[in-house]
Amino acid sequence: METRIFENKIEDLKVAAELIQKGETVVFPTETVYGLGANALDSLAVKKIFEAKGRPSDNPLIVHIADFEDAEKFAKEISPKAKLLAEKFCPGPLTMIFKKKECIPNEVSAGLDTVGIRIPKDETARTFLKECGVPVAAPSANISGKPSPTSFSHVFCDMNGKVSGIIKGEDSEVGVESTVLDMTADIPTILRPGGVSREELKEILGEVLISSELKKDDIPKAPGMKYKHYSPKGQVYILKGENEKRAEFIKRRSCVTSVAVVAFDEMVNADFGDAKVLSIGSEKVAEDAAHRLFDILRECDDLGVKEIYAPEIPDDGLWRAVKNRLYKAAAARIINAETAKSVLFVCTGNTCRSPMAEGIFNISHKNAVSASAGLFAGGGKASENAIRAAAELGVDIKSHNSRQLTPRMLENSDIILAMTESHKMSIPAEYNARTISEFVGVDGEIIDPYGGDIEVYRKCAGELKELIEKMDL
Ligand code: AMP
Ligand code: MG
Repeated sequence: METRIFENKIEDLKVAAELIQKGETVVFPTETVYGLGANALDSLAVKKIFEAKGRPSDNPLIVHIADFEDAEKFAKEISPKAKLLAEKFCPGPLTMIFKKKECIPNEVSAGLDTVGIRIPKDETARTFLKECGVPVAAPSANISGKPSPTSFSHVFCDMNGKVSGIIKGEDSEVGVESTVLDMTADIPTILRPGGVSREELKEILGEVLISSELKKDDIPKAPGMKYKHYSPKGQVYILKGENEKRAEFIKRRSCVTSVAVVAFDEMVNADFGDAKVLSIGSEKVAEDAAHRLFDILRECDDLGVKEIYAPEIPDDGLWRAVKNRLYKAAAARIINAETAKSVLFVCTGNTCRSPMAEGIFNISHKNAVSASAGLFAGGGKASENAIRAAAELGVDIKSHNSRQLTPRMLENSDIILAMTESHKMSIPAEYNARTISEFVGVDGEIIDPYGGDIEVYRKCAGELKELIEKMDL
């Protein structure tokens, strides 16, 4: 599909709005993140959003309008409290959930009887929405699962060729998505923290719940919150501990594998070794962290790093939204710099056994990280059957590149695990290498599956899994 790029001027916005009226998709800037819009009253148009993003269809879309006065055309039971909130936060980064009217198709609400309504503050967005003259359903304009787009270049990278138009605006000012507030609950409940903080909402509402504080049985969750989200290709870890220990841990990891560190300005000059340092602003300014977060996560992809270390994030005000996004990007991988173990798996070519071991280890152990290398690694990807056998265990090693073992890797790892006695004997004794079997106290070796069929690889991966799960760290 050809994607037209529109400039931020009224003639262009009118043409973009016509595309929406014709049932096409257009990406537009907002102060939170860029949105991938379509006419919210047109089921077929809305389906195109899900296709372009690869978004699961049980995840509802937020409906964007230019004026809160129009909300009652699409939503029922708009309470006086909601109107008070609207006076203060509309336009702005607040989405309110109401009972929906019939005109909102199921594709938008994902089968729920509610609808989320937001009035963006961004001037370009408002002009565009006014020109559209219809409500515009829009999720963030990223490929599902990836970090949300906060600049035109992010959008272009994800959506060029997949949508009818992109409006080229400024970078998103807020940088994290809207707060999703359920106004149908007895006590208004935050389903997703965002640009408007709980504290700000409390000033108007008195009591405001957060969905994670509700009891299991009565969670009216935003369906979207259950999906893996905001994730760069590398694994994000939230690294706890004293700053000095954190820097030391990251430095050591940077000697073993490719690493980026997301650091507050107060820490950017610490010695992180070879890690790429990405500043998230001062630890005192949540606005800067929110503004930069998604750009930083995308930069990690450009750098091609395998591990990304981020700091702990406070729990109040706008920090809550930053924390929510970052911890989701990390898929809840929180490790402690003072106690986490760094494991290195070693095999011959680093294309079969050790990459599988590394991948299996990294999804099996919570407070540890691992890498792999080969005694005679000739470069290249993991073998096809290794990729397949690992995938069957829920482990993705497609992007692995085989690497030659170096003394530096050995020096900077805590535990070195070989597949066979012969590998172990090739590693200088000072590094105390052991076979995996020896480490868990059983006999045997992990035999080379190289050249074997998928069954051989499955067996090998299964043996590795069994041993790795027995590892007591
Ligand atoms: P995104 O469009 O990517 O910003 O995500 C929108 C978020 O709002 C997702 O987490 C959705 O699950 C949530 N959401 C949208 N509409 C509703 C609704 N009617 N009820 C509950 N959550 C909603
Ligand atoms: Mg999104």
